[in-house]
Amino acid sequence: MPEGHTIHALAARLNRTLGRRPVAVSSPQGRFAADAALIDGRILEAASARGKHLFVDFDDIVLHVHLGLIGSFHVKPRADEARATSPARLRIEGADHVAELRGPMICALVDDATRRMTLEKLGPDPLHPPDRAGDGAGRAWERITKSRKAIAELLLDQSVVAGVGNVYRCEVLFRHRIDPFTPGRDLGRRLWDEVWDDLVTLLPLGMAFSQILTMQDQVDAAAEMVADGSSLAVTERLTGERLGDHFERRFHTYQRTGEACDRCGRRVREQVIGGRTLYWCPGCQRRRKR
Ligand SMILES: [Zn+2]
Repeated sequence: MPEGHTIHALAARLNRTLGRRPVAVSSPQGRFAADAALIDGRILEAASARGKHLFVDFDDIVLHVHLGLIGSFHVKPRADEARATSPARLRIEGADHVAELRGPMICALVDDATRRMTLEKLGPDPLHPPDRAGDGAGRAWERITKSRKAIAELLLDQSVVAGVGNVYRCEVLFRHRIDPFTPGRDLGRRLWDEVWDDLVTLLPLGMAFSQILTMQDQVDAAAEMVADGSSLAVTERLTGERLGDHFERRFHTYQRTGEACDRCGRRVREQVIGGRTLYWCPGCQRRRKR
């Protein structure tokens, strides 16, 4: 499932390629045809993301998209358009670019009040500037510290933290040596603050490169490229069609069941928790507080 950084990158891509201009909107597949007609020809004012939700403003009508497990939303230069594999639910065409949405969990037109209701149910988003600058850590903490659920389960709960998916969950718990089965109410506040701060660091790198980066050597290299602006050339080539490949795909625990932990040598284990497979190291992930 696309994690929050993918949706934020998509919003930025839509703004960059189709924003502030009139667009042609259609539903080649047909299921969204009546709604598409309502926004066809309007100006795509702004796309924005919160957690895994995407909102696109067309004057007083808002397009709400959630990709779910299998959805995809590509934005390509018109010149690069290959023959369509399957007709899209939604197609947005500008002068130079085309965006196509397939297989979403949610694709609906909503009003601003409905958008507010969706946003109110979401926890703080490490990629949302007000949550980053404000007390995002504290808002999530209010939920975590009252819960008997395991921190590994709470991290996937979008009402606790918005945007974190399974890969970031596994990897961030490993990076901080946290026992993933620690009940939220037994987790130390300082340890939680470390996790939040790390998400605030990691997610923008994932967004810039369309890759989840959690290995420290890659994190450092990516942060340097973002700081000096050289990441922009990579970002602007991405279409959302496939994962970025600027960095080698490497993780500490994710999908490494049975392999040796790169920190302590014990074998990585897996167990379903929160509806998704958690990967963790029983040898060095033992912290509950610090
Ligand atoms: Zn280990």
